[in-house]
Amino acid sequence: MHTSPPRNPYPKQLILDIHSYCNAKCAICPYPALKTKNPMGIMDEILFKKIIDDFSSLSKRNNFRGHVLFCNMGEPFCYPEIAVNRLQYVLRSELQINIQTNAALLLPEVVEALKESKFNGTILISCHGISPNTYKQVMGLDISKTLRNIDYLSQNYPKEKIGIQSIPYHWPRGEACSFLFSSERDTC
Ligand code: SF4
Repeated sequence: MHTSPPRNPYPKQLILDIHSYCNAKCAICPYPALKTKNPMGIMDEILFKKIIDDFSSLSKRNNFRGHVLFCNMGEPFCYPEIAVNRLQYVLRSELQINIQTNAALLLPEVVEALKESKFNGTILISCHGISPNTYKQVMGLDISKTLRNIDYLSQNYPKEKIGIQSIPYHWPRGEACSFLFSSERDTC
């Protein structure tokens, strides 16, 4: 008989939105519809610190290093100063922190601020299109700005800590091949 592995009675990872804003309007995401229905705002700092303090105590009591992920449905770098300050608070609490971002606002000065803060986690970039047209249609953003940011990041942050994730929503035929060299495209 199949038995499930035992489950921890506590979470080992927190996915945290420090505010409720995003600069994109992805067709795959409920954000564009929810932003006109839900109350919007920045999480109160006292509440933020309480969540991190509680999670840090939990991880110390149970002898594991908890992981925090910024963000779920908010783009952390809509408010880069708040993101970096809160990220430093997480690091001071001896938790690990990783970032999920669309990178459109991850400007070189933000990358430098992250490095100065001693952030050394993973940066997972959501990029739901490869060609400029598809990227614009799916995310409502200009890919050239995002690519400039990704170029700077990849030259100034450990490459093994950068990931790209895509959801191929209504991609036209050949979209996934558009980044290949011409010799590879023939077999794609
Ligand atoms: S970047 Fe992420 S949070 Fe923002 S609209 Fe797209 S999927 Fe949603």
